[in-house]
Amino acid sequence: MRIIKYIKIITLALVFSLIGNVQPTAIASTSKKTYEATKIKAFNEIRNATDRGNAQILKLNYEISASFPSDLRKIYMAQARYTSKLVSTFLPENEVVNIYLYTEKDASKIARHEILSRDAGSFQRWFDEWRQGKSQEHNLGLAAWYTQSSLGWQGHAGLIAYSGANAKSMRRYAIQVLPHEYFHVVQDYYLNKERDFSWPSYDLYAKYSPPTFREGSANTISFALATKNVKEYLSLYRYFIGEKKSQKEVKFFEEMSSPAEVVTALKLMENNNNRQDVHEASYAVGQLLYEWVIAEYGFDGYRKIIQNQIKVDSFAENIQLSLGISVDELYNKAAPHLVAAFKYGY
Ligand SMILES: [Zn+2]
Repeated sequence: MRIIKYIKIITLALVFSLIGNVQPTAIASTSKKTYEATKIKAFNEIRNATDRGNAQILKLNYEISASFPSDLRKIYMAQARYTSKLVSTFLPENEVVNIYLYTEKDASKIARHEILSRDAGSFQRWFDEWRQGKSQEHNLGLAAWYTQSSLGWQGHAGLIAYSGANAKSMRRYAIQVLPHEYFHVVQDYYLNKERDFSWPSYDLYAKYSPPTFREGSANTISFALATKNVKEYLSLYRYFIGEKKSQKEVKFFEEMSSPAEVVTALKLMENNNNRQDVHEASYAVGQLLYEWVIAEYGFDGYRKIIQNQIKVDSFAENIQLSLGISVDELYNKAAPHLVAAFKYGY
């Protein structure tokens, strides 16, 4: 009798501990296996869409500085060709894309350049640091637009690297900068070309193209295009999310521990002026959001968001039209994926 009583107590304790394990936290959270499967699915969706493209339909013009490091030149030209395959699935035939690879030695040329002079002021502090032997592992986005100039409407993408750099001296993040800048050409094409006006205010621009979409989804694409395979893709994420978790000045990276926190953060990240750390956080947080979108709705679901930009009057309308859900629903559904990213660290 006594033994049976003990067994009953032990059984009850077991049942309670099992119930304890399936409490809401366990239901709401994403397992590591599910998290990784979502990432791999997004990677494969992006790569399959790229492999269906034909870079030959575009006209690529290269402007490359004689001072540009030769091994980096090879890597970035190969990336420009590969990214062109994906870009070719968005742009019409014979569209012109200019690819720029410059160094600090081209500072005065950049300052005089009709297109590249736009951001010329922001490079000076980097050039000064490079000359002092600092921060030479960083490359800088130089152009990332589909825009109108004396050449007509054309794509412009490129970067600046330190003239004394080489592939081994660059930080890991540098490997995806060219595909990232190049993909902005595609985003801009559907946002700007047929609208044919310059944005009267940043607030209006952000209403159509919030930072998590512009910077974030360009990173989703560039991480998949700049890595050789799934293993490298996951490894680049491990490096990047690890770096973000130690970046204490960006408060958002400490506000990713529950779906509710993530939804609040995503709403704040709809405009760079909402908080001073929005811009920096929008890359990593946005790229995880669109990684989830691409895994869930396929690359063609994401393609709709890009292409519908011209058909709508806000990002909220775009998400409704493209995915058939509200922005709030999008954030709520994707939130567990973002929580998992910061929990598992990749
Ligand atoms: Zn960007």
